[in-house]
Amino acid sequence: AKAHVVVVGGGSGGATTARYLKQFSPDMMVTLIEPNATYVTCYGSNWVIGGFESMDAITHGYDNLRDRDGIDVIEDKVVGVDADSRTVRLESGDSLQYDKLVMSPGIDFKYDDMPGIEEADAETIPHAWKAGSQTELLRSQLLEMPNGGVFVMVAPPNPFRCPPGPYERVSLIAHYLKEHKPRSKIIVLDAKDNFSKQGLFEEGWEMHYGDMIEWRAASDGGLVEEIDVGEMTARADSGFERVRADVMNFIPAQRAGQIAHDVGLTNDEGWVPVDQRTFKSEMDDNIYVLGDASVAGAMPKSGHSANNQGKIVAAAIVRELMDQEPLDPSSANTCYSLITPEHGISVAAVYKYQDGAQAGVEGSGGVSPSGETSSFRAREAAYTQAWYAGITQDIWG
Ligand code: FAD
Repeated sequence: AKAHVVVVGGGSGGATTARYLKQFSPDMMVTLIEPNATYVTCYGSNWVIGGFESMDAITHGYDNLRDRDGIDVIEDKVVGVDADSRTVRLESGDSLQYDKLVMSPGIDFKYDDMPGIEEADAETIPHAWKAGSQTELLRSQLLEMPNGGVFVMVAPPNPFRCPPGPYERVSLIAHYLKEHKPRSKIIVLDAKDNFSKQGLFEEGWEMHYGDMIEWRAASDGGLVEEIDVGEMTARADSGFERVRADVMNFIPAQRAGQIAHDVGLTNDEGWVPVDQRTFKSEMDDNIYVLGDASVAGAMPKSGHSANNQGKIVAAAIVRELMDQEPLDPSSANTCYSLITPEHGISVAAVYKYQDGAQAGVEGSGGVSPSGETSSFRAREAAYTQAWYAGITQDIWG
């Protein structure tokens, strides 16, 4: 009989895995289960929030995976897995049997870690850390914010999806406010003392936005201990100061997507430990977990990482089914960020499976140089757009 692989989640990691399984092994039966008819990328969602990209441009469908690649794409949600009988249960009541199961469910949030706010409050204080209606909500709140208003971001502790993402977001909100509401202010209350590409962001903020963006480190009054949703305030650990927001963006601490917990694949920190050579779960021999949900050594939680891991998983499954030894995979990540639509910066790295983990290759990658010319930054902004076109074509195109 043909092998059947079921993939949970049609995001960056899952859709890549499904597509590459079919490419490496056209006879394989591949089923992709995703509750949403379309996928809105988080990458590019800060461009929408900044007002210079449309939701349409960051929304992707599954027609090509279905019609061209021959993947059985089912619009449903996985609600349980029985590992012994290798069966997944769907919300609709159906169930499916698999030979190998792949899960790339992304993240969920630890609202319990922040007193005063719960998941339902995301309707008034959006996280916008999963793209779609949350992106539109934050955008519309910015449109309604008065000139002279205060935008407050509460930035998450490590580890979280997209390390430079919060700082790209405030950059592009500043881009919008500078043009339309120039008396406004942005305050970032951070659970950390430093962040990805910090020097490059701060250089760009000073150059383009003067003192519009104020970033407070955790140890310098930035660590928020409580949010008052009704009052729209955040109380930082200095104890007495409550920061009042006209628009608040609370990005909670994160953990692996709920289904990974339900299936019993997570560790005490809430993430999924895997054999980083193949991304096979440490808890189950027939389940592979990749993307943001997994513990992936030096690889950051990014769409680019998830896409590379999807190819690693596809190759590992095809080889295992043919009784071949797994490869020692090499992969890469680049995270581009825009500070204005014409000012791009990046961080890149190459990874190799070594000594039991995905480790950075010495001498590879790095960040954009500081003090560069505007034409250099404009080229990186163009590469950012090209990266988006390339990766979305590879995954859903
Ligand atoms: P996701 O892409 O989130 O996919 C998970 C999928 O699983 C979803 O479609 C979900 O519906 C589905 N799912 C969940 N549970 C179930 C279930 N029970 N049954 C069926 N399906 C289920 N990365 C970059 O590389 N570059 C960037 O510039 C970049 N910018 C970003 C900006 C922002 C603001 C944010 C928030 C993130 C950004 N990222 C970027 C990170 C990137 O979006 C994620 O790292 C990436 O999407 C992770 O892929 P994934 O497959 O793990 O999860």
